[in-house]
Amino acid sequence: LPLLTLQDIDKVYQNGTVALQGVNLTVHPGEFISLVGPSGCGKSTVLRLVAGLGTPTKGTMTWPGSTQQRNDLAFVFQDPALMPWANVVDNIYLPLKLKRQRLRSVRGSIQAAINTVDLNGYGQSYPRQLSGGMKMRVSIARALVTKPQVLLMDEPFGALDEMTRSRLNSDLLRLWREKNWTVLFVTHNIYEAVYLSTRVVVMAAQPGRVVANISIDAPQVRT
Ligand code: ADP
Ligand code: ADP
Repeated sequence: LPLLTLQDIDKVYQNGTVALQGVNLTVHPGEFISLVGPSGCGKSTVLRLVAGLGTPTKGTMTWPGSTQQRNDLAFVFQDPALMPWANVVDNIYLPLKLKRQRLRSVRGSIQAAINTVDLNGYGQSYPRQLSGGMKMRVSIARALVTKPQVLLMDEPFGALDEMTRSRLNSDLLRLWREKNWTVLFVTHNIYEAVYLSTRVVVMAAQPGRVVANISIDAPQVRT
């Protein structure tokens, strides 16, 4: 059963911009799908619709498996969007706090998330004390502490230098394999897309649409 299907989706914004026209996409559990294409082709719009931030103007979006999955989403943006006044532990705690979980009962999960992104010893540090790559790893830890099934990533590593990016790419692949995530990943970088993905969806602009849908056979990174 697919996890999610988008059928013939149009999205027209209030100002008349046709961001998407006739988009079809089927996402199966465990897939790692990259959306690539020029700026303005509607990649972020797709992610926002999947996240339930806004509704399609036309077409249908369904979660055939269960409605549960749409609540198990986590979003990672290019801007790690950490709270500057809170330390790493408290930043990672935020989504759990919003779910009314007590810090005392989730300290172990938070520490595990910190270990997973290789930030041992930085729990009491503040965002201003961390490098760009480290802040992004905090942002990933904040996503994974909620144990999501679906991870939506919008150019997460776009602002980072090449070395940091390549390191985070391998970390992400390791996590994807460990955690059984379904990932929708937006990037400008076709090499990154091919390296990471089981499927690459190529989009074009004006109007935003899907022009190619390519399965990637990359056993060397999937063993
Ligand atoms: P991408 O992520 O591929 O760069 P977006 O989904 O951000 O593309 O945008 C697709 C199109 O919709 C662009 O023309 C963009 O300017 C427009 N757009 C995005 N968000 C809005 C909005 N809130 N209101 C109006 N137009 C928007
Ligand atoms: P960026 O390249 O974006 O600045 P990095 O994550 O590559 O970010 O980290 C930059 C600096 O922070 C490097 O000097 C690196 O050694 C140090 N650093 C990053 N993560 C850790 C860590 N877990 N423990 C110790 N030092 C770290």
